[in-house]
Amino acid sequence: MFSGGPQDNFDLHNHSTRSDGLLTPTQLIELAARTGTHAVALTDHDTIDGVAEAAEAARAAGIELIPGVEISVSWGETTLHVVGLRVDPASPVLTAGLNGIRDGRFGRGEKIAQALAKLGFADTLEGALEQCKGRRDQLSRAHFARCLVERGHVRDTQHAFDKYLAKGKPAYVPHRWAGLQEAVGWIRAAGGIAVLAHPGRYNLQPMMREEMLKQFGSFGGEAIEVVTGSHRPEEYALWQREALDHGFLASRGADYHGPGESPCEPGRLPALHASLTPVWTKWAH
Ligand code: AMP
Ligand code: MN
Ligand code: MN
Ligand code: MN
Repeated sequence: MFSGGPQDNFDLHNHSTRSDGLLTPTQLIELAARTGTHAVALTDHDTIDGVAEAAEAARAAGIELIPGVEISVSWGETTLHVVGLRVDPASPVLTAGLNGIRDGRFGRGEKIAQALAKLGFADTLEGALEQCKGRRDQLSRAHFARCLVERGHVRDTQHAFDKYLAKGKPAYVPHRWAGLQEAVGWIRAAGGIAVLAHPGRYNLQPMMREEMLKQFGSFGGEAIEVVTGSHRPEEYALWQREALDHGFLASRGADYHGPGESPCEPGRLPALHASLTPVWTKWAH
């Protein structure tokens, strides 16, 4: 069906309702099939719950499902995201690690709601919980953002982050996630490949950026995202150079969250530049 070359349509970063996406795993896979994606990864935040449903939908749609996860990591004061691809969903090490991180989400949510209350927005904990269907361990800033939109406090979720929820804004609550070495270790223990998600999103100065990439590689990280819906197209060249300089494989993924919230549907981003080695050459032939 495909050769595993750079031009094949692999989309290796997408979310569903099992974390902060708007489509169910089945709806996501059906969308990816419609856009002509050959292989699609489900990479929900800190959970592999949706993989079984996605695998079933992928079988029905005739496309390949890559079991994945996007792990929240604290690196100093910076939150990083590390994607694990081709992880074994039955891995006890990975499952225990992810359960531990998700445990902290509700407590952080309570603090976010308190901060929003001080800004004049009452009862957002209830609203955000409604947005995530009461799954406390999945409570995300994205659910608070949707609550603020639904109540007419902001015009869209991007504004909710820009005004209140992003780092440095008044309802931002710092949180301790997994360690970088720990997260990469869980992914590798589950037989997966660790990919640094959207490296352009972390606001690191060049020296810290180099240090972060060096550490990620030394812990066993193998790839970085270059073409992602979370990079602006003008950022692709920088991360292409970083991948080549550090000897990382390159990944491509929409970071799709749902209609109206993501600039790019799964399978619709530009291809990786021919100078890069796609991460999927590790397994697709
Ligand atoms: P959390 O893991 O609860 O901190 O939520 C992180 C999620 O919120 C990310 O995966 C994105 O979906 C969304 N997000 C984070 N920062 C922003 C931002 N500046 N603008 C839009 N969405 C964001
Ligand atoms: Mn998200
Ligand atoms: Mn992310
Ligand atoms: Mn993501």
